[in-house]
Amino acid sequence: MLDGAITRIVRSGEVDLALVQAGDRGRPALIFIHGYPDTKELWADVLARLAPSYHVAAYDVRGAGDSSRPRRAAAYDLARLGDDLEAVIEAVSPGRPVHLVGHDWGAIQGWEFVTQERFAGMLASLTAIAGPPLDQVIAAGNLLLRRPTPARVAELARRARRSWYIVAIFTPGVPTLAWRWLARGGRWNWLMQNLERVGTDGGHPAPTLAADGRHGAKLYRRNIPRRLLGPRAHVVAHAPVQLVIPARDHYISTSYYDNARLIAPVLRRRLVGARHWVPRTEPGLVARWIGEFVDQVEAGSEPGSRTPWARGGGIEQLCGRLALVTGAGSGIGRATAAALCAQGARLLLVDRDRAALARAGEEIGAEGTFVCDVSDEQAMERLADEVVCRFGVPDVVVNNAGIAVAGPFLETTGQDWQRVVGVNLMGVVHGCRVFGRALVERGEGGQIVNVASAAAFQPAKDLPAYSASKAAVMMASECLRAELAPYGIGVTAACPGFVSTNITRAAHYVGLPEAEERALAERLTRLYERRNFGPERVATAIVEAIGADLPVAVITPEARVMRALSRFAPGVRRRLATLDTLPA
Ligand code: NAD
Repeated sequence: MLDGAITRIVRSGEVDLALVQAGDRGRPALIFIHGYPDTKELWADVLARLAPSYHVAAYDVRGAGDSSRPRRAAAYDLARLGDDLEAVIEAVSPGRPVHLVGHDWGAIQGWEFVTQERFAGMLASLTAIAGPPLDQVIAAGNLLLRRPTPARVAELARRARRSWYIVAIFTPGVPTLAWRWLARGGRWNWLMQNLERVGTDGGHPAPTLAADGRHGAKLYRRNIPRRLLGPRAHVVAHAPVQLVIPARDHYISTSYYDNARLIAPVLRRRLVGARHWVPRTEPGLVARWIGEFVDQVEAGSEPGSRTPWARGGGIEQLCGRLALVTGAGSGIGRATAAALCAQGARLLLVDRDRAALARAGEEIGAEGTFVCDVSDEQAMERLADEVVCRFGVPDVVVNNAGIAVAGPFLETTGQDWQRVVGVNLMGVVHGCRVFGRALVERGEGGQIVNVASAAAFQPAKDLPAYSASKAAVMMASECLRAELAPYGIGVTAACPGFVSTNITRAAHYVGLPEAEERALAERLTRLYERRNFGPERVATAIVEAIGADLPVAVITPEARVMRALSRFAPGVRRRLATLDTLPA
């Protein structure tokens, strides 16, 4: 299974447990418990990544793989499973607390043990993957049944739709027949590959699948009815808990985890856009999260003190969060950074204009300033590396930097197009990619804001490159929003209208001699000033959009009119596009 691993049998009462163990015995010990209907092989790819740094051990739960298979359901009582863990801890790490990691029923076991007095001082932490505390599953079900409001009935129906298989498990004879049938002719392999996107290689599924399924059913049969009849009161975890929630789990609704904090006062929640078998589909991510968590617990830092970002959870949650804003040296970017700071966020500012950036950084009291051209992909990669390394992953990223090029399409050169698209579209794309990736890997949600424009829905014959780049930003934001939703990450496209900033002065007006270009810039700047919509008002709207997780924030009245025309009167919109918008 693993390089340098030893396999051994650990005795627990009448039961033999098959255990695999690897890594340096002097390092913190991690014990892995698999779920139903798996074996310790579930962890192979995770253990391979952790064994070089930790002392790792995984065992076949009684009834599975190479461990004994007691016949009576009573032998599968959670108390007996606790005996097994105790025996494994004694064999692997006598006298030193272990970090427990469980998946599915392994996680349910973990919740049980981390809340039992019996294991106090023996467990240093728990990482529970795709498995809620049994007490809360039952308490929530009871509440839904006792006080059935329409919303609760709907939630119960949603849960029942995912948990249909439990009915099959409780039907006499069904687990035996079903697993015999599923294990034959590659049927289970087919289901795993096609429904769960799990590969069926390297010992998956185990050759013992039919027997594992049949005996493992006793975990449900023994423990669920007993807990229904005798719920435990006031259960509290005595060690920090990391909860890994797969957002696309077909079997367990994410709402099962809503109240986990009631049981685990020190809780770290991670959301992953994966299906149920995360240790198989995302072994690298799972291994990294486990390693980070274990290291924090070992170092005595507070691993659970962070509250995960809640999409649409209001602006209050900005307090203490890390926010990064590009193009923060001037205009909307600078005002947005100041508005986020006013909400208590810690600010990182990015701009290619060193002097403007330094001024903004000082005025706002930013934690960090970074000179960077957002259109440079490598520079953005380096920026993200440095930011994550020095400050951690920003909870909020505002891709705001932008430039304007105005003038007729046929006079806009290929170079002009490349410049506009390079900054306005690719700058946003690079920001989304480098920080979006970091947010996904962190697994605690977040918010990305891409500053587009009302030009995204209103064509103008004088603004082809700019409008096209902004329309592309809108569409890219919508696509990314759909992709990142399962990770708890919101994406907003902000669309202001005419805002009085430096953009009109810094813009390039194609096909004009320099003196005329400057004069036009001044006239346009004055016109925008007379319009009198300052960047601070845009910033307020952006902050509100972050709090509400708006898909599109349409800011300024003219932007709202343009959006309405694009939806309900496209003919009018086309006629408006033919007007001269640059002042003579
Ligand atoms: P601004 O010129 O006042 O500020 C833009 C900032 O971005 C400047 O500090 C500039 O140095 C920086 N920047 C430009 N290119 C960069 C690059 N490649 N890398 C890093 N930084 C760069 O303009 P603004 O009006 O505040 O514009 C901000 C955003 O708002 C832009 O995306 C713009 O298209 C958008 N917008 C502005 C208006 C408006 O009327 N002002 C309307 C709609 C949308």
